[in-house]
Amino acid sequence: MHLTDNINSLPGVGYRYAALLSLLGIETVKDLLNYFPSYYKDSSTVGMLSELDKIQKRTVNATLVKLKNIRLRNGKFIQKGTLTDGEVELNVTWFNQPYLTKSLVPPIDLLISGKLNPKSTKPELTSPEYEIVRSGDYENIHIGRIVPAYPLTKGITSKWLRVKIKYLIDNIDQIEDLVDQLPLIIREKYKLLELTDALKFIHFPQESKDITEARRRLGFDELLNIQKILIENSLKIKTQPAFSISINNGTMEKIKTKLPFTLTESQNTTIEEIHNDIGKPHPMRRLLQGDVGSGKTIVALLGLLPVLENGYQVVLLAPTGILAQQHYQSISKLLDKKYKISLITKETYNELETKSQLLIGTHAILKHKSELIHNLAMVIIDEQHRFGVEQRRELLELKSNNKVPHLLQLTATPIPRTVALTLFGDYQVSKIYPPKERKMIRTFLVPEQKRADSYDWIKNVVNNKGQAFWIFPAIEESEKMQIKNLEQSYPIIEKLFNEFQSDVIHGKIKADIKDKKIEQFAKGKTQILVSTTVVEVGIDIPGANLIIIESAERFGLAQLHQLRGRVGRNNQNACCLLYFNENKEEVRNRLEFFAKNTDGIKIAEYDLNRRGPGEVYGIQQSGLPNLKIARFSNLEQLKQVQEASEILYRK
Ligand code: ADP
Ligand code: MG
Repeated sequence: MHLTDNINSLPGVGYRYAALLSLLGIETVKDLLNYFPSYYKDSSTVGMLSELDKIQKRTVNATLVKLKNIRLRNGKFIQKGTLTDGEVELNVTWFNQPYLTKSLVPPIDLLISGKLNPKSTKPELTSPEYEIVRSGDYENIHIGRIVPAYPLTKGITSKWLRVKIKYLIDNIDQIEDLVDQLPLIIREKYKLLELTDALKFIHFPQESKDITEARRRLGFDELLNIQKILIENSLKIKTQPAFSISINNGTMEKIKTKLPFTLTESQNTTIEEIHNDIGKPHPMRRLLQGDVGSGKTIVALLGLLPVLENGYQVVLLAPTGILAQQHYQSISKLLDKKYKISLITKETYNELETKSQLLIGTHAILKHKSELIHNLAMVIIDEQHRFGVEQRRELLELKSNNKVPHLLQLTATPIPRTVALTLFGDYQVSKIYPPKERKMIRTFLVPEQKRADSYDWIKNVVNNKGQAFWIFPAIEESEKMQIKNLEQSYPIIEKLFNEFQSDVIHGKIKADIKDKKIEQFAKGKTQILVSTTVVEVGIDIPGANLIIIESAERFGLAQLHQLRGRVGRNNQNACCLLYFNENKEEVRNRLEFFAKNTDGIKIAEYDLNRRGPGEVYGIQQSGLPNLKIARFSNLEQLKQVQEASEILYRK
């Protein structure tokens, strides 16, 4: 047998089953072997018939001593039989399975799993699951053990699938090309199972420890594969050509004097790192991590400046029109007229813009790439986690003169180092930290009984030249979860705070209208902006000094952190109010942790164990490797794999 063999080469898998299996993504022997259980049912404790009850399903070992088909008046059949374990006898009934009298010929030993019929006065088992106990070294696989449960599709039963996988596992030594790629020294160093044992245990564990160990080994492989690709990428990129940019600091110093602040040390260092990278004849791959409000935009601008000075083109990509526009305005203000800058969004694109050197915009740039791009040396992606893998790939394929663009990705997602190495192992990482003068945003938990009081406090803040965001969880979700609904609440807020100008935005409002509303808020014409999380991304509203968050327990902490970063951007005092509906200790602890902490990484790590990284970092699903077994929250394992991959793949 070979891993690459078609699945229909297995006994009992004809074309019909092969077609059904392909719906589950199973085409080959390898696919089936790697079709892992989604969970396990533990029926390994086997008891006596007398222990069965009407509430909980239990597993017993008994002999079926009688079984007959009874025809009902409606023409249907029921199967009635008697079970015994030597101590008690018990009636058993199945419905509509006339073939049972052929497959279960008494006396026959069975493993039975079920509970007593709660409606019947006499003790009786109805429609229990069963498995025939065979002699010899036959291993029961459906009942009386830790039973694997697989994702199924119509036409494939769990019993059928288990039998097929058991066949593979029993014959695993016959699969010629199944070789353990993991060298013995690595396996020993991290005490990992051999591959065949891991596969046996993941499908048919004897005890729960087997599952843990199997997952540890298979997860290791999974992460190691990702790491391998990243290392290969990073070696490959060093062989590709890019425009080598010469650096002249004159213009940069001029711009620095125009700024109303001095750059922080980490900003200066990062700019140097970028300039150093783009000076080389190979493409830069750099990730700039900086908490919300830490000042990534100016770093990007000063970083790209030499590229413009060398006469090449730069693309600065933002996830939303409003953010692109904001970058366009602030950058245009700082740059000389010497460079032609264009704002390219769905609304603003016009065909005259073709000679531009700095293209700032949304993915609309990609739509018009053939007209716009001719001499591209650098791409900057802001809020990179908002873009799918495909969009980013498309950008990197934009070669000019066969040269690959330098790439800088900006992110505010607080990713711990270990996770970052798995997600961005082929990138150099720069970090910047918020300026020291930044004030901590005071964060308060407001229990429901204090809500009314807090309204007066809010009025006070807004009256004092303040502006507030008022955030609700996504509108669709709220209907189901019966949480405060934005559409319902907005009129109430509007009325309660009628001395102020308020407005509402959410995902169902058209982009251009949304952008206008945000602009009004940015200009200070609106004081209260009620909104879903659409304001999460990057926008800089200097006047906003209060953010109120409804049903705060519904958000991941990292997302709350992003939201909180929307206020207090101009070294002014700012506050965050958290309303929450579930007054549980766990919820309060979590939110209190958030209130006391400002470090995005710490905050993300706190949540990483409870939620997947997709939720914690708000990274689009498409941007994350799809892990079947390993978990990004397992920092220990990530570290081991990184160590191992350096040993194995870095020459
Ligand atoms: P983010 O990192 O979230 O993209 P921005 O680049 O939007 O942050 O910067 C947030 C605010 O901080 C802006 O108003 C910007 O002008 C300001 N800023 C940037 N660098 C500094 C600095 N070194 N000192 C003070 N303020 C700064
Ligand atoms: Mg930003």
